[in-house]
Amino acid sequence: MSKYASTDPTTGTVVAKFETESDEQVMASLSAADAAYRTWRTTEVAERASVLQRVADLHRERETELAELMTLEMGKPIAQARGEVKLSASIFEYYATKGQDLLADEELDIAGSGRALVRTAPIGALVGVMPWNFPYYQVARFVAPNLLLGNTILLKHASNCPQQALAIEAMLRDAGSPEGVYRNIFASSDQIADLIADPRIQGVSLTGSERAGSIIGQLAGKHMKKAVLELGGSDPFIVLAGADLGDAVAAAVPGRFGNAGQACTSSKRMIVDASVWDEFLDGFVSAAQSWSMGDPTDPATRLGPMSSVGGRDEIAEQVADAVSKGATVHLGGSVPDGDGAYYPATVLSGVTPDMRAYREELFGPVAVLHKVDSTDAAIDLANDSPFGLGSAVFTTDDTEAAYVADRLDVGMVGINTTIKSAPDMPFGGVKTSGIGRELGRFGLDEFANKKLVRTL
Ligand code: NAP
Repeated sequence: MSKYASTDPTTGTVVAKFETESDEQVMASLSAADAAYRTWRTTEVAERASVLQRVADLHRERETELAELMTLEMGKPIAQARGEVKLSASIFEYYATKGQDLLADEELDIAGSGRALVRTAPIGALVGVMPWNFPYYQVARFVAPNLLLGNTILLKHASNCPQQALAIEAMLRDAGSPEGVYRNIFASSDQIADLIADPRIQGVSLTGSERAGSIIGQLAGKHMKKAVLELGGSDPFIVLAGADLGDAVAAAVPGRFGNAGQACTSSKRMIVDASVWDEFLDGFVSAAQSWSMGDPTDPATRLGPMSSVGGRDEIAEQVADAVSKGATVHLGGSVPDGDGAYYPATVLSGVTPDMRAYREELFGPVAVLHKVDSTDAAIDLANDSPFGLGSAVFTTDDTEAAYVADRLDVGMVGINTTIKSAPDMPFGGVKTSGIGRELGRFGLDEFANKKLVRTL
């Protein structure tokens, strides 16, 4: 039985199913990726870049079709889905246009005579395992730098977005990437484990949960393969005394409720100085009220369904646990009647360490607001999390902003902004949020052989 299926999250109806591939099919794709690597690695960078530029163009030409598939398979409101397709196009274009410079040899300043260069060279065929929450963007940030570098890719997408997986493969094919350079595989977890064990695979990149990251990380370690893990987050959004509260509310609300809260860098924990607590809480709740649930195909809808009833039930249980232990609900907080994976914009306060909502990732439209008495208390609370992905600090005091930025145990800090991914800036976290960086020049180094070329 195949686990790959498109299920409309507004109704729960399965609209398309795809067979999981046989072991022979997966191994045939591996052979093709390995064979393709031998020629792809030696093609001119300009030729690889031209394929990427064409993939960027195809994202733009097919924006409507790609965005509609996203709305169908994981419920993202269509306006946000279009934004993601545009961002994905810009990532392919960034590596297409900057690639040659980013891959230039680095001349070392050495003590001895002669020259020493560091060349950024490819390593081989890679496996990518990707989630459903940003189905095109997650793939773009892994695929674009690695194809530019000369690696080849087998891509296992999330089982609930198979049509988007095929749409991505079609763009790579139509852009002229040679046979075997990029293949979608409808693979099982066991087949992914077999691929990681195979000597023809040189690395694996997973974006997803800590659970999956731990499994893939162990397999990669066992077989001594390079791994990049982009995992969960519980980003703090710190509002200090003297912050511009209008700006803070305007960033916090979409930062928490965009993509129905299903983003690794959602602003999941608002940590607010007591001196501005009342005003921020009022502003936040009142702005969140305008995020009413709606049909994701309507361009005016901002809060669609979650991607699955299973995900919705999980967040409902986390909220119920908090409420049963004394948390205050300021908005939302209950599963609506009717079909689909809907959950309302929800605001909680009074969340304490004995509640699941304190430490677990809340992967849905639920904001937790904490009141603190000082900047140091805000930092301590922000760091009291297993995660360390993004963060935001709102303050009008530059010295205070720098003080907080230096003390947060995270991979990304936004000052008076939330973290918005961009092609030319690194993305990644510390602690259980993962290992490695994607995007910008950093994304090119993860699966590269930094090869020393020494000449006397
Ligand atoms: P998930 O369950 O871990 O799934 C992600 C991918 O891993 C899917 O393709 C899934 O396949 C696959 N997978 C799961 N277990 C596997 C195994 N044992 N072997 C091989 N593949 C396996 O994650 P999710 O719930 O879909 O995604 C949400 C999570 O991703 C959240 O925690 C979120 O914060 C995180 N995320 C992180 C980033 C980042 O950049 N740090 C970005 C986006 C999302 P199936 O679908 O077939 O199970």
